[in-house]
Amino acid sequence: MSVLSSPHFHDEAKAFAFLESIVWAGGVVCPHCGVVGGRVYDLAGVRSKPSVKNPNGVIRHGLKKCGECRAQFTVKVGTVFEHARMPLTKMLQAVHLIISSKKGISSHQLSRVLEVQYKSAWFLAHRIREAMRSGDLAPFGTGGGAVEVDIK
Ligand SMILES: [Zn+2]
Repeated sequence: MSVLSSPHFHDEAKAFAFLESIVWAGGVVCPHCGVVGGRVYDLAGVRSKPSVKNPNGVIRHGLKKCGECRAQFTVKVGTVFEHARMPLTKMLQAVHLIISSKKGISSHQLSRVLEVQYKSAWFLAHRIREAMRSGDLAPFGTGGGAVEVDIK
């Protein structure tokens, strides 16, 4: 066993559970109405709309519904992972590679290791580095705020 065999690097559902345990350590926060620890329902088994690539749609992991404002969200809303089209497992792998490399990692190397296009790797690396930047943080996405990720 090595750190790279951790389930959250390979199983999308476990990746969401891993991120939730960090972001929502103090209870689930609805990113739409800001209620902390309110009524939140798990929307299990919901699939995305059919597409040419995925005629049956894909499972929407970690989808939740707020009982207070009736809006849907996942843990990715308000983090650097929001709106990314890559699986969360790959993005967590990228975070691990970037923070565990003594001299950093180039987007080209990230692209080769994660087997994603160079443009995707470059954009992902920029998002992650922006989240790690100290000092005043520019808001990300709609909600603003960055995510701190501690890989154990
Ligand atoms: Zn809400």
